[in-house]
Amino acid sequence: MVSSFRRFLQPRCLALLQECGSMEELVQVHNQMVRNGLFFEEPVAAGKLLDFCTRVAGNLHYARKLFDQVPRPDTFAWNTIIRGHACSRSPGPALELFARMVALGGDCAAWPNSYTYTFVLKACAGLRAGQEGEHVHGFMVKLGADHDVFSANGLISMYAACDKIELARRMFETCTERDIVTWNAMLSGYVDCGRIDCARKLFDEMPTKGIISWNAMISGYINCGDAIMARKLFDLMPERNVESWNTLITGSARCGLLDTARELFDMMPDRNAVSWSAMISAYVQGDRPIEAIRLFEEMRKLRVKPNWATIVSLLSACAHLGRLEQGKHIHTYIERNKMKVDSIIGTALIDMYAKCGCIEHAFIVFDSLISKDIFSWTVMISGLAVNGHGEKALDLFNRLQRDGLRPNEVTFVGVLCACSHMGQVELTNHYFNSMRSMYGIQPQIEHYGCMIDALGRAGRLEEAVSLVEAIPASNNHVLWLTLLGACWIHGNVEIGEHVFKKLIELKPNDGGVYVLLSNIYAMKGKWNDTKGMRMLMKSKGLQKHPGRSFIDIHGITHEFFSGDKSHPRIEEICQMLEEVASRLKLLGYTPNTSAVLFDIEEEEKQQAISHHSEKLAIAFGLVCIDKNSPIRVVKNLRVCHDCHTVAKLISKAFAREIILRDRHVFHYFRDGLCSCKEYW
Ligand SMILES: [Zn+2]
Ligand SMILES: [Zn+2]
Repeated sequence: MVSSFRRFLQPRCLALLQECGSMEELVQVHNQMVRNGLFFEEPVAAGKLLDFCTRVAGNLHYARKLFDQVPRPDTFAWNTIIRGHACSRSPGPALELFARMVALGGDCAAWPNSYTYTFVLKACAGLRAGQEGEHVHGFMVKLGADHDVFSANGLISMYAACDKIELARRMFETCTERDIVTWNAMLSGYVDCGRIDCARKLFDEMPTKGIISWNAMISGYINCGDAIMARKLFDLMPERNVESWNTLITGSARCGLLDTARELFDMMPDRNAVSWSAMISAYVQGDRPIEAIRLFEEMRKLRVKPNWATIVSLLSACAHLGRLEQGKHIHTYIERNKMKVDSIIGTALIDMYAKCGCIEHAFIVFDSLISKDIFSWTVMISGLAVNGHGEKALDLFNRLQRDGLRPNEVTFVGVLCACSHMGQVELTNHYFNSMRSMYGIQPQIEHYGCMIDALGRAGRLEEAVSLVEAIPASNNHVLWLTLLGACWIHGNVEIGEHVFKKLIELKPNDGGVYVLLSNIYAMKGKWNDTKGMRMLMKSKGLQKHPGRSFIDIHGITHEFFSGDKSHPRIEEICQMLEEVASRLKLLGYTPNTSAVLFDIEEEEKQQAISHHSEKLAIAFGLVCIDKNSPIRVVKNLRVCHDCHTVAKLISKAFAREIILRDRHVFHYFRDGLCSCKEYW
């Protein structure tokens, strides 16, 4: 009686399950199955429920709870839960479950089959657990389960993923039966371990090639930097899918061929969100953030929904350019579309706000972030540090430690940067040492850089020199450069020359180094030496890295070079500069021409310096931006002494707030003062 009742119930429950659209409905069916006993006594029904839960609802957590309640799971149920874990981001439990399944041994209701092995091998591949993989293989051999093409394919992929390409090949050789998946598995194996010649040989031997094979071969060439071969193959493809295009776009970009990537992008018959994201990220990584943002606008016009990766790339573009308005738009977009602000997007938002000099907003995002990981903390600490809130940065660092999180080496860069910006040499030293003693983190070039910076700020240049000389790192070019910057700030010719010699030994063709030393000479009025430097640069054919400044006006980025006359509103800008000059004169200002490289007449010098890119940008800001909003300018290099003074005086004479981000720090000019305390 009871069993016939069940026979009636089971199809009904299974039908209900088929119609399930959400977790809520699934929970209802589950409860019903528990009440009528189906769940505990009919393994098939429980298995179906599990399958739905992992595959359709994607709720592995609930699935696992269900599985643990099933008294005698059958093979299907075991496979379902193992597959769920194997395909998840942390496949570890799949191996534990498999071990449990095998240990049950005699229970013939649940004996592994070829599906089980496929999933377990996938888990091993995901975990790069070669040793466990070999155990599974041994087990399969014992049971004679290694012969079907299914298992062989799984074994090849597993060995390839675990860096055991020779074992993968042996498996491939001994296969009695090979299908296209077998060939592709072997091919991808070679591609992933960079054995491009073996991959090509196999590719040419393949009896039939699918799109997957072609795509794998193309990305193989891309990975080893051969964009030309990749393109050749691409052109030969009998048919292409969107992935083929995406692979080549990303690849061309990675090989530095951004314009080629863009041509391909424009040629594509149909693009998906990945294609857009690939092109946008390519622009961001290729240091062309303006084009990245322009492409995003286009994407939005065409109503293509940006994916998660696009959003992260764009936020990084905005951060890079200091485009606060655009960054805020993206933030609004995230909120309006109810995109989940996970730790990665949250961190990108914090970074964007911090780099746009909007530290309050950065903090709001940080505070509201539910899942903060060490990266979120680190970005917030570094953001506070470069924005001149050293003490708050250190407070946060203490909170992080209290919360039991483990700082990483990047966190310490932020901490040390906070201390050095506060001008605290001893404190910097204290954290520098505790990094090693408390957390076992070996100092990297960036950490030494902060130490040098701290000593440099304090004018302890000799100590800084001996520190750099004692550092075991081979590539300490950056450190010497930091030191040369400090010599410039302190106008120290003697040490400057010493540092310069070290620098040109390491990188003889860095024009910026010559410019910096000639600026030190100019500061001290040593015009002959300045001239000598200039001649040296010329004879070596070295270029000065051009200074560029950006300003955002109503969502459009304007870019200025030094002495730039190309802007359509240049006349208004020049008029404004004249007004600036006359108002500043009233405050007793005379141009500090020491940063002008040329030994030219004083008047010309004044002309040259008054058209530095940051001055042009600030003047344009004065023309366009309403009185109550701050003027935000981003400069690619260090700001010079004169521009710094002028910005301070403008903030007073025009009662304006100016926020200037240069390569090193933020300068908040307000009422004639700057937040950087005259060191940058
Ligand atoms: Zn300047
Ligand atoms: Zn400043």
